Amino acid sequence: MLDDAGLHALREAARLSPDNLPLRRHLAEQLLTKGYLAEAETEFRAALVLSPQDPDVIAGLAEAFVRQSAYGAALSALEPLLAAPGHAPRVGLLAARALLGEGDVAGAARRYHDAVARDPSLADPDLAARLTPQPVPAAPPYAPETPLYGAEAERSGVTFADVAGMEAVKESLRLKLLLPVQQPELFAAFGKRAGGGVLLYGPPGAGKTHLARAAAGELGAAFISVGLADILDMYIGSSERNLRATFEMARRHRPCVLFFDEVDALAARRSDMRQAHTRQLVNQFLAELDGVEENANEGVLVLAATNAPWYIDVAFRRPGRFDQMVFVPPPDASARAAILRILCRDKPLAEMDYDAVAKVTDGFVGADLKGVVDRAVETKLRQSISAGRPLPLTTNDLLTVAQATRPTAVKEWLGTARNYVLHANDSGAWDELMPWIDGKAGRTGKKGSKGGW
Ligand code: ADP
Repeated sequence: MLDDAGLHALREAARLSPDNLPLRRHLAEQLLTKGYLAEAETEFRAALVLSPQDPDVIAGLAEAFVRQSAYGAALSALEPLLAAPGHAPRVGLLAARALLGEGDVAGAARRYHDAVARDPSLADPDLAARLTPQPVPAAPPYAPETPLYGAEAERSGVTFADVAGMEAVKESLRLKLLLPVQQPELFAAFGKRAGGGVLLYGPPGAGKTHLARAAAGELGAAFISVGLADILDMYIGSSERNLRATFEMARRHRPCVLFFDEVDALAARRSDMRQAHTRQLVNQFLAELDGVEENANEGVLVLAATNAPWYIDVAFRRPGRFDQMVFVPPPDASARAAILRILCRDKPLAEMDYDAVAKVTDGFVGADLKGVVDRAVETKLRQSISAGRPLPLTTNDLLTVAQATRPTAVKEWLGTARNYVLHANDSGAWDELMPWIDGKAGRTGKKGSKGGW
């Protein structure tokens, strides 16, 4: 690997010959190797301008995305490569990482096993351990009025009572989303319009989807959840149709919460590939959001989520669109205890000390804690079967699994966030995130103690 002086020289050389593709590519790769992810991304983008179809550059860009938790963006970048049958195994491996980041374990496992079968040197035991095989659901039958990718309106059985901690987040959602609908007169009196979109952002697994679903339950509204990458991944002509059908479905089911996950996917497309078509899609998305006819979206509340808010185009953040950003933080110790309590509540339990488990799970998000509880329950089930009687779950069961578990990448996420927002908060857009960036929030131990963020 290059030392810092070598890297500096390389940067200089690239600055002096900006059109030298091999040089820029080399610089980008070195930056990636050294973990300067944001800068690597910039360099790969610059190289992509010089050579738009270059598979190595696209793969490099995708890796920079994956390592910055921008999984939707990574999948979008990789899509043209994945579509080619003989793609490089490394591309499949990157797709596996991105799919896992998006929670698609089955899809990730398929990509991973395919990549390793073709290049065994890519085997990654840590990754493989997180890919328990799952059955692939059958594709739903196609009906013209439903979107092609099979989104469905559901009745949400969860409410804010099922979301532990996050009091500040719930309060701001109540104010932004629920009160305007529940008490429209009050809001009208202050000249505020109901509706508008809210963008939830935060590390993967912190509970954005869970929160959106709970907001629907709290409102008694239908819930439609859409991965934006699902819409975009359809071949060209269908994307527009899908988007339109999705909004129409939401309007038919009003009151409805329409939830778009991975909105960063749209941003990645816009800047890199298929410019003209993507621009058209972004415009259509914004037009649907604005409501083609007046009051078209009455009773439709649009929520969106992303792990990579810094990729979201400013056009999305204009008034009346996603003008409200809400940070969904990693849970602190008391929130972790509360999440564990909720996750365990309908299991057979001994007397539980959730605080003790919360103490050893610094850096875990809700999704990690769910994994811990699921694994502890599995073990207990096996023990109960051999004992021939039901054994209750104990604090120790949770502690044992927790201590053997590595949390997902909250720390890395905060590091990435720091790079992006530290010097870019003039507008105050990142105010909620700032205390986490400079380490003033979320710490559970003493100041300066190990294990905090
Ligand atoms: P994200 O959308 O931010 O990636 P999810 O909403 O998918 O994260 O969270 C993963 C799982 O973790 C949820 O299904 C839920 O079971 C659990 N979880 C996360 N946060 C909470 C919370 N605050 N209270 C209860 N469960 C939570």
